[in-house]
Amino acid sequence: MPDDRDARLAELHRLRRGDILYPGNSGCAGARGSGGGAPSPCQGEVTAAAMKHYHGPKRPHHTRIFLCDLHARLEAAEPLTDADRAELTRRRAKAAYWAEVSARQRAAHGMTSW
Ligand SMILES: [Zn+2]
Repeated sequence: MPDDRDARLAELHRLRRGDILYPGNSGCAGARGSGGGAPSPCQGEVTAAAMKHYHGPKRPHHTRIFLCDLHARLEAAEPLTDADRAELTRRRAKAAYWAEVSARQRAAHGMTSW
């Protein structure tokens, strides 16, 4: 069997490097360092997808992650399938919905920005 411990270590290193921090993102799941500040989601155009396995303290699960050219090198990335494109569209719609709700809430509270 493959050495699970090594896989977990590699996973940890990846997380520490801040590379794949946004598995549920509607764009690239990778993070982009911001000059020593907190990492933020990568804005790269999605060109690939990968199935990511989480062992973690919670129940193990798989998540389909999307990656740009740069971050695709870090994962066993595959070309986007039709199902991937549909999933991306679904995530983007969801993200747009929540951005809209949040903007309305800010407006209702008389806040123009955070
Ligand atoms: Zn990226």
